Amino acid sequence: MARNIQAIRGMHDVLPDSTPHWQYVERIVKEVMSCYGYKEIRLPIVEKTELFKRSIGEVTDIVEKEMYTFDDRNGGSLTLRPEGTAGCLRACLEHGLLHNQIQRLWYYGPMFRHERPQKGRYRQFIQLGVETYGMPGPDIDIEILLLTVRLWRRLGILDHLELQLNSLGTTEERLVYRQQLIEFFSSYPEQLDEDSLRRLKTNPLRILDSKNPKMQALISQAPILMDFLGEQSQAHFAQLTQQLDHLGIRYTLNPRLVRGLDYYSKTVFEWVTDKLGAQGTVCAGGRYDSLIEQLGGKPNHAIGFAMGMERLLSLLEESSQLPEPQLVDAYLICVGENAELAGFELAEKFRKELPDLKLQMHCGGGSFKSQFKKADKSGAKYALVLGEDEIIAHKISIKPLRSDHEQQTVSHEEAVDLLKKVLN
Ligand code: ATP
Ligand code: MG
Repeated sequence: MARNIQAIRGMHDVLPDSTPHWQYVERIVKEVMSCYGYKEIRLPIVEKTELFKRSIGEVTDIVEKEMYTFDDRNGGSLTLRPEGTAGCLRACLEHGLLHNQIQRLWYYGPMFRHERPQKGRYRQFIQLGVETYGMPGPDIDIEILLLTVRLWRRLGILDHLELQLNSLGTTEERLVYRQQLIEFFSSYPEQLDEDSLRRLKTNPLRILDSKNPKMQALISQAPILMDFLGEQSQAHFAQLTQQLDHLGIRYTLNPRLVRGLDYYSKTVFEWVTDKLGAQGTVCAGGRYDSLIEQLGGKPNHAIGFAMGMERLLSLLEESSQLPEPQLVDAYLICVGENAELAGFELAEKFRKELPDLKLQMHCGGGSFKSQFKKADKSGAKYALVLGEDEIIAHKISIKPLRSDHEQQTVSHEEAVDLLKKVLN
């Protein structure tokens, strides 16, 4: 016998028992986005490799070792998108959406990174991304933080998440800091791991983003970027934190927060939980004004974030905030020669008059007993029963499956009214 083919490591199926949980979160996400007036943008999953190299930075984990890159059949190098910001900005520039305009956008879909698969770290994963353009902040910085807080509140997980904040200043400020970092880390070459030694030469800020536990003690003694910020960057950050204080949004200052991508400046943030182990960052983002010019646009402003949906769902599960879905409200049982055809007609009448009713009709025949078993297994609250007696009387029987209430035999119109009541 042929061997079964399995899915690619780190790429997962979402099975029917879990899809209702995804649909629940997706519905809330969409509601929150539209209640802040954000518009959805849909982008290709594949882009030119050059786009990611130019935006994310050549010396980042993503570009160095995580991209799924392949040659197109007619030449040219393509890459499965490892994140959404670059593609979103590319689309906005290409279609002139930044020309004298402000944009508040969101997108949702799979991203691909060739990482070592583990809990909360996959090779195909879903991100919700938010990007805004044309606003220097810090008002918009605050708005998108408020938006995330609203989302956590709606999902019932605000208490499990901590907002960590930092400012990365401007490119010029980071250059001065970079020199200080090089001097600091160069004094402890024996304490640097292989990655950090390499980064010391290419991209020393990345050392601060190291996940290696052995590096953390040294990193905690490194100079702090905040001390190198100029007046304007300081003022931006001070205004941000003061307004967050005023609004009652709690945060922790994390001076080592640099993010895994090169394009950030000024405000950066992460929402972190201690309920998911090492992969505790559920949502991360920041300001990336300079990326727009880097991709060929005019000087402009941008801030956004991306949320890892698998981690978000794990957090909801860990904190028991996933509602049990009702997949079937009623199960239609039809026994007898005439019942099946009448059943189809009646089911369609119910579906027409009660569009919210989740009605499953029995297929495959069988006795009352076997059909009732299936009804019970479906999770339905009611069995609707059509037998010869009901057909002759032009009626239908309704039997509650999850309570001791009596079975009732009623007219079709009465059945609609009854089901309408139980749906509310
Ligand atoms: P990490 O430090 O955990 O590797 P990152 O800095 O690479 O994250 P971003 O590129 O900022 O993450 O992506 C934003 C969010 O997307 C992360 O905070 C996380 O929730 C999620 N995410 C990133 N990579 C993965 C992955 N391989 N599997 C699942 N979720 C991921
Ligand atoms: Mg990463």
